[in-house]
Amino acid sequence: MRILFLIAAVVLVFLIVRTLVRKPLGHSRPEKRPLPSGNMVRCDYCGLHVPDDEALLSDGRRYCSEEHRELDRLPRRDD
Ligand SMILES: [Zn+2]
Repeated sequence: MRILFLIAAVVLVFLIVRTLVRKPLGHSRPEKRPLPSGNMVRCDYCGLHVPDDEALLSDGRRYCSEEHRELDRLPRRDD
């Protein structure tokens, strides 16, 4: 009788482990990215090309640096 409990316990542990292992795998597949990393984007302030993963995003615009992101937010004096 003890062996049945042992088998049941092993099966239960196996099912729990399998469920735990499956969940993160299903979520961590980054297939939504249209292009692999290494894609270059243009800074909306100075026009410099920077790698997509290094660009700073703000309101749908991309910047090469924190400085340019801040400068672009300030009102420009072109008069
Ligand atoms: Zn820039």
